[in-house]
Amino acid sequence: MIAVLAASGAARAIALIGDAWVLRILRSAFRGSTRFSDFMQELGISRAVLSQRLDLMCTQGLLERDASAGGHPRYRLSEMGLELWGVLILMWLWERQRGTGLQDHAHSPDRPRNRLVHRDCGSAIEPRYVCVHCSQAVSPFETEPVLRPSAGDAVAGLDLPSERARYRQSSRSDRENLPRLMRLYGDRWNCFMLAAAFQGARTFSDFQRALALGPAQISDRLSELQALGFLSARAYAGQRQEYRLSPDALATFSITVEMMQWGNRWLWRGQAPLTVRHNSCGHILHAVLDCPHCCKPLSRRNLLLSD
Ligand SMILES: [Zn+2]
Ligand SMILES: [Zn+2]
Repeated sequence: MIAVLAASGAARAIALIGDAWVLRILRSAFRGSTRFSDFMQELGISRAVLSQRLDLMCTQGLLERDASAGGHPRYRLSEMGLELWGVLILMWLWERQRGTGLQDHAHSPDRPRNRLVHRDCGSAIEPRYVCVHCSQAVSPFETEPVLRPSAGDAVAGLDLPSERARYRQSSRSDRENLPRLMRLYGDRWNCFMLAAAFQGARTFSDFQRALALGPAQISDRLSELQALGFLSARAYAGQRQEYRLSPDALATFSITVEMMQWGNRWLWRGQAPLTVRHNSCGHILHAVLDCPHCCKPLSRRNLLLSD
């Protein structure tokens, strides 16, 4: 099970962008920030943390550093970084419907902007995430993972813990103040727990089997995911508990699918080992954002986020 999860482009995407500051910097870059001082001003981030994140994001290919004009360098999204627009739009939608958009006290850079306009038809929209083959909305209940036979070799080449370790620096209290979605995607084990739940894990021993972690770690994760409102527990067979995905957790499915599509495209050489079948139509899922008003597919260039 853990091999299946680690083989996913989503796991690689999370290793790369699953950090609250990286996500905030990406969002700010999409809003047009390019200079060190733009990011500092918009995000209220310390000089040292910003400098470390920008360097890493350049090394990893998310940003390109341009010092050609002399003076201060500019940081621009690379093609690979720009292709994250779908992940960020789906996160925007989740925050708007279920997260910081509902909280008056949310840290201002984390509040979603008010309006997303589809320029082609001029409507303010909440996009849909649909299968290109059958146009049905993507749902966790209609999909199943498909692992390629060569996946074992690919998994053996993974080195995720060291990739994650490079971002580790936030103190516990900083972490606890993060918006819920960032606490989910900023922590690989929280993501794996949720992925196990999406694949049917319900009981303590299901999670233990799926993740091969010790009882204390599973117990911590279950408490954290309940506190964050992603899992709910109910009594089952006497003393035992059964854990269920909350509606907020079910709504993160499209974000994870989009991360997988991005990760499969950019973070593997050759074919990615894990894809998802869409049971509604039988095709390998290829999901896209579309406009609920005019039904046309969305692209980065025909969207406008504003307050
Ligand atoms: Zn389909
Ligand atoms: Zn439209």
